Amino acid sequence: MSDCLFCRIASGEIPSSRLYEDELCVAFHDIDPQAPEHFLVIPKEHIPSAGAITPENSAVVAHIFEVIARLTTGRGITSFRVVSNVGEQAGQSVQHLHFHVLSGRDMTWPPG
Ligand code: 5GP
Ligand code: ZN
Repeated sequence: MSDCLFCRIASGEIPSSRLYEDELCVAFHDIDPQAPEHFLVIPKEHIPSAGAITPENSAVVAHIFEVIARLTTGRGITSFRVVSNVGEQAGQSVQHLHFHVLSGRDMTWPPG
């Protein structure tokens, strides 16, 4: 989608600080980090949110979690939180599926 920020980041049209890319997904640092380590992993395919995952597009989610495990292990991160906000009340501000990976500080529970 040409008007979607994360589609434009995925295509490289908008620059980002990338950690990883393959044929299915891209990982890049969040522009406004909420923890010492805060990166996002997104599918290249436009999926509006975790609320729009179907049998047809769900394989990329498993792939993204494999990538998250590989990236955290590779960066020596043993404790982290994965978050995907869905909808306005949960604080989703970009309407393209993304997984926040946060680490490097104590986390509170329940999340705010
Ligand atoms: P959400 O609020 O939808 O859960 O998460 C969107 C995230 O995208 C936010 O944490 C925000 O800081 C990040 N973000 C928004 N615009 C950009 C951008 O242009 N580049 C990068 N790297 N991150 C962005
Ligand atoms: Zn998109």
